[in-house]
Amino acid sequence: MIQQHLETVRRHVREVCAGAGRSGDAVRIVAVSKTFAVDRIHEAMEAGQVDFGENYAQELKTKAEAVPPELVRWHFIGHLQSNKVKFVLPALHLLHSLDRLSLAEEIQKRASALERTVDALIEVHTTDEATKSGVSPSEVLGFARVVASFDRIRIRGLMTMGPFSDDPERARPCFRQVRELQTLMRREGPDGMTWDELSMGMSGDYPVAIQEGATIVRIGTAIFGQRG
Ligand SMILES: *Cc1c(COP(=O)(O)O)cnc(C)c1O
Repeated sequence: MIQQHLETVRRHVREVCAGAGRSGDAVRIVAVSKTFAVDRIHEAMEAGQVDFGENYAQELKTKAEAVPPELVRWHFIGHLQSNKVKFVLPALHLLHSLDRLSLAEEIQKRASALERTVDALIEVHTTDEATKSGVSPSEVLGFARVVASFDRIRIRGLMTMGPFSDDPERARPCFRQVRELQTLMRREGPDGMTWDELSMGMSGDYPVAIQEGATIVRIGTAIFGQRG
């Protein structure tokens, strides 16, 4: 089942890329496995999936310990409490949700201790929903300039979540705003940061996100089914 769902999503991603004049391999699929057991992850791995996304720090740690590290890349996509950074860092490939200075400070400290650098995306708050995190669009440039002094954090781009809605078109202005912010950051952002990655789009709105320039889509339900 997971294999079929993955094939369907991959085919659809390629079709949407083609329709948008983009290369079929311009978009990476992160399979959001939060709340699903490790055997589901193994099933997806057997179908060739490498990138997995988790929202809960302890859950990522437990799963990462149960899967051979050389076969997967772990993405942390949820709100990360500073006191949970230590659980996430050892296995982390990419943090999608850098959203505040105190988190950057904790990552800098923990990453120094592990003698590694951490790749991260700045999460941008593009809806008016108070339940969502992120740096407001007008503050991203200032935030990036502060983070530039943290030598253990390597900024690779931006992430956002569209609004809760059955209508994917409602997410388009959010995605477009992040794409425009990418252009601004490339022009005015601090030296040493790259802005190539745009993590945007979930099961309900990834085609719109790809049309608007997403390089990473985060897909849970369309691959693993409804969460319990
Ligand atoms: C759960 C989650 C997803 C995946 O959502 P689906 O609608 O199941 O595809 C993507 N991004 C974030 C930040 C999430 O929390």
